[in-house]
Amino acid sequence: MVLSSVLGFPRIGAQRELKKTTEAYWAGKVDIAELERVGKDLRAQNWAKQQAAGVDIIPSNDFSYYDHILDLSLSLNIVAERYSKYNLSTIDTTFAMGRGLQREGVDVPANEMVKWFDSNYHYVRPTFSHSTAFKLNNTKAVDEYLEAKAQGIETRPVLIGPVSLLFLGKADKDSQDLEPISLLEKLLPIYADYLAKIAAAGAASVQIDEPILVLDLPENVQAAFKTAYEFLANYQATLPKITIASYFGDARPNLAAIKGLPVAGFHYDFVRVPEQLEEVAAALTPEQTLSVGIVDGRNVWKADFAKALKIVEAAKAKIGADRVVVATSSSLLHTPVTLENEIKLNPEIKDWLSFATQKLDEVVIIAKAATHGVESVAAEFAANAASIAARASSSITNDPAVRQRVESITADQIKRKSAFATRLEEQKKNLNLPSFPTTTIGSFPQTKEIRINRNKFTKGEITAAEYEKFIEQEIAEVVKFQEEVGLDVLVHGEPERNDMVQYFGERLKGFVFTQNGWVQSYGSRYVRPPIIVGDVSRPAPMTVKESKFAQSLTSKPMKGMLTGPVTCLRWSFPRNDISPKQQAQQLALALRDEVNDLEAAGIYVIQVDEPAIREGLPLRAGAERDDYVKYAVESFRLSTSGVEDKTQIHSHFCYSDLDPAHIKALDADVVSIEFSKKDDNKYIEEFSNYPNHIGLGVFDIHSPRVPSQEELEAKIQSIVGVYPKENLWVNPDCGLKTRKWDETKKQLTNMVNAAKIYREKY
Ligand code: GLN
Ligand code: ZN
Repeated sequence: MVLSSVLGFPRIGAQRELKKTTEAYWAGKVDIAELERVGKDLRAQNWAKQQAAGVDIIPSNDFSYYDHILDLSLSLNIVAERYSKYNLSTIDTTFAMGRGLQREGVDVPANEMVKWFDSNYHYVRPTFSHSTAFKLNNTKAVDEYLEAKAQGIETRPVLIGPVSLLFLGKADKDSQDLEPISLLEKLLPIYADYLAKIAAAGAASVQIDEPILVLDLPENVQAAFKTAYEFLANYQATLPKITIASYFGDARPNLAAIKGLPVAGFHYDFVRVPEQLEEVAAALTPEQTLSVGIVDGRNVWKADFAKALKIVEAAKAKIGADRVVVATSSSLLHTPVTLENEIKLNPEIKDWLSFATQKLDEVVIIAKAATHGVESVAAEFAANAASIAARASSSITNDPAVRQRVESITADQIKRKSAFATRLEEQKKNLNLPSFPTTTIGSFPQTKEIRINRNKFTKGEITAAEYEKFIEQEIAEVVKFQEEVGLDVLVHGEPERNDMVQYFGERLKGFVFTQNGWVQSYGSRYVRPPIIVGDVSRPAPMTVKESKFAQSLTSKPMKGMLTGPVTCLRWSFPRNDISPKQQAQQLALALRDEVNDLEAAGIYVIQVDEPAIREGLPLRAGAERDDYVKYAVESFRLSTSGVEDKTQIHSHFCYSDLDPAHIKALDADVVSIEFSKKDDNKYIEEFSNYPNHIGLGVFDIHSPRVPSQEELEAKIQSIVGVYPKENLWVNPDCGLKTRKWDETKKQLTNMVNAAKIYREKY
């Protein structure tokens, strides 16, 4: 019999209940009992849903009020003294570590938060120091297991594994010489104790996530798997049976490190890497089970049952049906909760989609087919095949004109007309900029008034003409301010944009939007990514009207502002029926038309933002990563190379340590990079022989703090010590949309004045 299994379910609630209550708790509007009531309710609903769907292996301890990695840190007492000294409740310590806490008598910043592999989820990084003393602070996994049991549902608790927990953490400030993995031997007894308590509560098995198995691992970390799992196997108390789960990539390069480990089974992601089946199955001992991750935990498309079943059948043929489990590829945390409430979606498209709730049925159906034959689920298989075929042949997914255009991309189209030196001369004549030119990254404060008016327009309470007039007033104000303060290259301020990807998605053919498709990004921040359903094209100009209007108000150059192809792709749910590269190319061609139209409208500085290039980098070094960099760079260049030499192309990068080599490959005339918190002259030195120009962010836009003119001068001084001053632009770290006007005014005034001092000096 082939069992069905789910690795984790979204905890946010179909109506974002968790966010609403958590934020109300932070604001002091509800008490802890109410927060816990909502948490308990969500867990109960999720378990009931999975049971009703017929899932055999249902997870518990996948719930979290903030972040499940942070929860485990708390359970194991990986809590720095700066948090523990306040003796807060578990939940308040969790929130203090996740988001910082500032209230009477308490002032502590958050722990670092980092991206969870290549997903858009962020986890709170465990921080270890020489004084970290592991002990069991709480038994969250036991409590939640018992909670489900009381509901009559048997679950399999989920925990992050000891090796991943250490490797994904970092040394705290006071212990910089510490390598977290060196703490393994100290951690294991406590970890084992935790597992023993889970077993004592009645759990027969646990899922232990070791997602670092898909990364390039140093030898000592590879060796840690053997140490860890042999220790657990030989522990004095009874532990539950362990399934080690890896996901998001290829585990084969680390197979030697886990082959023969004394555990009950392994889970692998065959949505991402179906090719690994042969080798990972061959590495199992005769008793071990194989959990076949075949329903995509990272995307919103219906599984192709026939294709999935083929992989399951191949696994069965190798090791026998009784050792095969059908599973989601990863936790479903990364998918929206349910399709049921999407009443506005085109029914044709809705039929191609599957969110977390719908994916439960998918694992169950595929497992049934693998156990009793396709006949036992003939109707479901037929409907699925029809849906898959309809999607493949729909005119929504296939636009021959777009395909044709991608086919005929030429090498000339990804190259500017002349080399940078020639372009620079033309741009100097055309733009007439001073040395140390100043600019901003695009957005200006998104005021309450802007949001109110946008809402009114969306609801039809004001007409398009009224809304347009309001936007023009906003633009005029932003332009007037920039002239007064003395900025050199102006922007229109982006008041018409709700979000830097959604705005473009709404104007491009090929995108759809959900009403409730929220996915947790971190803590109480959820995102609602657009879905790319079909071939992408641009029916009409998207930004020309606003930029042209803004330019008409000033004699200074106005910078056009676009979101780049890779960022549009990465911050959406991509298609899985054509490659990411093809989608990036389609987006690039649409943006190329926009760039050219802007130029034709008299906009001679155009910025194409690509903050998401870094996060799309494949997890392992090698051919796949090289391919990605190549198409990412080419897509940017394809979108920006249609212009004349005299038009200046800018790009921008924030919160990402993009490799300087990749930045250089874009060949943008000017690149602005977040820098104010980096303070790393080595990073700038990497650019010292790069001829194109760079703007380094001189102040943090996430903070209301206003750095003084002197502070900003000192910042510029430290940069020109290592970087050619002729090539330097002066700008903030990123857009100003989250700031208030009074802060922005002071920050930019000081910035412009600091740049002027240097202009006079040199
Ligand atoms: N142009 C965008 C803005 O200023 C850039 C945002 C970003 O890089 N995240 O808001
Ligand atoms: Zn930015």
